[in-house]
Amino acid sequence: MRAQYGYQDASGNYFITLDTDRCNGCGDCERACPAAVFTVLDKDPNDPFREDPVAVIPVDKQRRLKYLCNPCKPSSRGAPLPCVHACRTGAIEHSW
Ligand code: SF4
Ligand code: SF4
Repeated sequence: MRAQYGYQDASGNYFITLDTDRCNGCGDCERACPAAVFTVLDKDPNDPFREDPVAVIPVDKQRRLKYLCNPCKPSSRGAPLPCVHACRTGAIEHSW
């Protein structure tokens, strides 16, 4: 399942998409993110049938993604985004 976290405003779309089929709940994104955007939960609140841990983005973080992620952006500075780089299964995508 592709879980979308974030929002849209007049300046653009600020979404992180997390492919829960690829996420194994390892927590590498949680450790890599300087803004503590990710949280790994034992149960997926969006999928009651899932039994494995999964990364999510809490609502209070979703509402501030543009600002929380700003120090990491733009990724064109050369280095990949820390969260994307940390995720070995390729589960994380940013919309901007
Ligand atoms: S690093 Fe990737 S696989 Fe690991 S918890 Fe985060 S999103 Fe899931
Ligand atoms: S871009 Fe930076 S601040 Fe935003 S989720 Fe990724 S590691 Fe965290």
